[in-house]
Amino acid sequence: MMRDVKLILLGAPGAGKGTQAEIISKNYAIPAISTGAIIRAAIKNGTEMGKAAREYTDRGALVPDSVVIGIIKERLAEPDCAGGFILDGFPRTVPQAQALDEMGVEITDVISIEVPDESILERMGGRRVCKACGATYHVKYNPSPLGDRCACGEALTIRADDDPEVVKSRLVTYHEQTEPLKEYYSAKGKLKIVIGQEKLEDTTALVSAALDA
Ligand code: ADP
Ligand code: ZN
Repeated sequence: MMRDVKLILLGAPGAGKGTQAEIISKNYAIPAISTGAIIRAAIKNGTEMGKAAREYTDRGALVPDSVVIGIIKERLAEPDCAGGFILDGFPRTVPQAQALDEMGVEITDVISIEVPDESILERMGGRRVCKACGATYHVKYNPSPLGDRCACGEALTIRADDDPEVVKSRLVTYHEQTEPLKEYYSAKGKLKIVIGQEKLEDTTALVSAALDA
């Protein structure tokens, strides 16, 4: 029997959390929960929450804690989370981490994927997304087999918040508001650091090793 994994992935926007979350999700058969993906879906569907969130996401700011805490509370109550889960993009502030503790959620692992800001700017500049199926690519590191079209056939687009100026402010937000969580979880003896590698499978190997250690 594999142990329960209740994992938080920390890392700057573009550090590769989402990709690693999907891989771990398959390997451990546990859901990967991305607050960013949930928020984007709400924006796309034009819900009240989506409309309110958009004012923040478009300028690279964080959505208010109360909103994302509500999202996570609902999601973690779903039955598929009982045997473990991966949080990608939550918590992103100390109050969000405290809220998770107050919910009684027992996090087993926290892995921070570290990538220098300069590499992030290069990566995000090349990121392309498919609005139809949600797939993400990178023009250099993970190109679509169909070039500027998704494997599903839809034309690829650049996310509004991947604009370089917006990316810079997201990095500032990360360093100011999210990075203090490393201290928060290291004080609880839960933090493991993984240096993000150029090849995503090399990062996966390091993340797996951190989980098995
Ligand atoms: P990234 O590429 O930065 O990892 P995400 O897809 O995780 O982006 O999130 C996109 C946007 O959604 C963020 O820039 C932020 O505005 C909002 N968001 C996602 N998760 C949170 C959170 N935990 N707290 C506040 N805002 C969030
Ligand atoms: Zn697609």
